[in-house]
Amino acid sequence: MDEVKMDQVKVDQFSNRNEIPEAFRWNLSLVYPSLESWEADFAKVDSHVRRVEEFKGKLGSGALTMKEAFEAQVNLDLLIEKLYSYAHHSSDEDTRDSAKLGRVDRIRGEATKAGARLSWFEPELLEIPVEQLNSLSRDPLLRDFSRKLELLIRSKPHQRSAEVEEILALASEPMDGAYKAFSLLENADMKFQDAVDAQGKNCELNHATYGAYLESDDRELRRSAFGNYIREFSKYQNTFAATIDSHVKKQVFYARARRFNSAIEASLFSDAVPLTVYNGLIDTVNRFLPLLHRWVGLKKRVLGLSEMEIFDQFVPMVKPTRTELPYEEGCRLVREAVRPLGEEYGSALEKAFTERWIDVFYTPGKRSGAYSGGMYLTKPYILLNHKHNLGSTFTLAHELGHSLHTHFSNASQHYTTANYPIFLAEVASTTNEMLLHFHLYEKAESREMKLYLLDHLFTQFRSTLYRQVQFAEFERDIHAMVERGEPLTAESLSDHFESLNARYYGPEMKRHKNIRFEWSRIPHFYYNFYVYKYSTSFAAAQYFAKGIYEGDTKLRDSYLGFLKSGSSRDPIDTLIRAGMDLRGPEPIEAAFQVFEDALNEFERLSK
Ligand SMILES: [Zn+2]
Repeated sequence: MDEVKMDQVKVDQFSNRNEIPEAFRWNLSLVYPSLESWEADFAKVDSHVRRVEEFKGKLGSGALTMKEAFEAQVNLDLLIEKLYSYAHHSSDEDTRDSAKLGRVDRIRGEATKAGARLSWFEPELLEIPVEQLNSLSRDPLLRDFSRKLELLIRSKPHQRSAEVEEILALASEPMDGAYKAFSLLENADMKFQDAVDAQGKNCELNHATYGAYLESDDRELRRSAFGNYIREFSKYQNTFAATIDSHVKKQVFYARARRFNSAIEASLFSDAVPLTVYNGLIDTVNRFLPLLHRWVGLKKRVLGLSEMEIFDQFVPMVKPTRTELPYEEGCRLVREAVRPLGEEYGSALEKAFTERWIDVFYTPGKRSGAYSGGMYLTKPYILLNHKHNLGSTFTLAHELGHSLHTHFSNASQHYTTANYPIFLAEVASTTNEMLLHFHLYEKAESREMKLYLLDHLFTQFRSTLYRQVQFAEFERDIHAMVERGEPLTAESLSDHFESLNARYYGPEMKRHKNIRFEWSRIPHFYYNFYVYKYSTSFAAAQYFAKGIYEGDTKLRDSYLGFLKSGSSRDPIDTLIRAGMDLRGPEPIEAAFQVFEDALNEFERLSK
């Protein structure tokens, strides 16, 4: 592909779906062959709810009753998922189509109604004494539900009396005000002053254009976009400090109400992630900050800047002049790249094409971006807006990673343990991206292509490992501040963010006077200790991809076992069984070895 020039790129422009050959459109008729069949299933929801209602007041009356109740609930969930899956995929084909949107609304409404009618189910389960749950979890009749019961037993110590639980449930809506205020202020009320490019032209600045301007070659545009964007946030710093303070206090309140030692322990509880894993990740990444500092220095030299500014970090070091790649060629490369995963993986991958899981091209009204979706009873469908280039090919590899993970877990697990947790979700997708990276690197004929691939990899390390851990550290610290009774103010938040930023980027990154306010624009600080999962997933993927690419068949087999394990164990245990122990620093250190090797290689090639 090195021979192809950028000016030959033609992005397919179809004005409607019928112009696209069938092979490049997903086949939703595998879910429902007709709208009538969807309607016929929709009409069954009520009787499925009634079937579950028959067990009201009886859940604790024995193993057989409990099994039948769980099965009735699973059947209802499967039906709703299937109806919803079809409705939403079909609506994503053209989001302007009101009939399609109508079906999404109808099934959502029906699911909400079912949830309200069955709101007694969980509390009734939680009423069952722990000794009884223990013996039920060992009953062979309930084998398919033993994991569910195990998790229920584990949550018992954090369950309060019926009266307290009722008040906690009533408090949940008014407690959500902080994030609502944050997103209204940020999305609806704030207006940004236009950015100005090197020619003096005004460029409209909003959340959508901001990212593109920062990747622009025009340094004046980058400077202006960053400056105007962050200045607008700085104006509301006291309000944003109040919304964060209120959110963190909510987390601390719930943690204390549920008898956890801290908000962070309460958040890590559902994944059973030890606090030492969270803290260990931050410590290890901090030990490897010199590599990020080295990258800052390298970028400064390659871009030919006398000073590296915070808004210079996003512009590529290597121009993608030769990345044109037709879709079918991209598919072929992905097939080749995942070959080290073996026969079983390869033949499952073929199903994505032969069973038409993928909706490839853009048409007007189609949902933007890319995702892997699908449910237990459907194919793991993929939506793309594919452009014939290398970036889109990485996206294809990524989404196929998710879909194959879903495919293997669904095929190997009972419904109750099929759905893999968010903690593990990005492992399979990033492993595929890395396998594609190694494969392309090996095949690359030109120095330019190699540099381009290394630069692409640096971006992933910067954004997924360093940046997310910087956020994870900030998040941990501000919760601890509130727990110690220290106030979260614009001043204290900005001081702490600024010191973290200086430590992470190092001495060669020039200090921008407004970078201290950047915390105020990050929505993830309202997501309850979520961002670190990107980093652990990314590190795990580096570990698996490198070993598998280098031909470690034992690791490959345990990785396939991982893909089949769904949520049958705690995520940390799932990874340990696959050969990766996040309780120690080694896997994160191994990921940094990949980064260091790439830095060495880039420096060698760019001399
Ligand atoms: Zn993903």
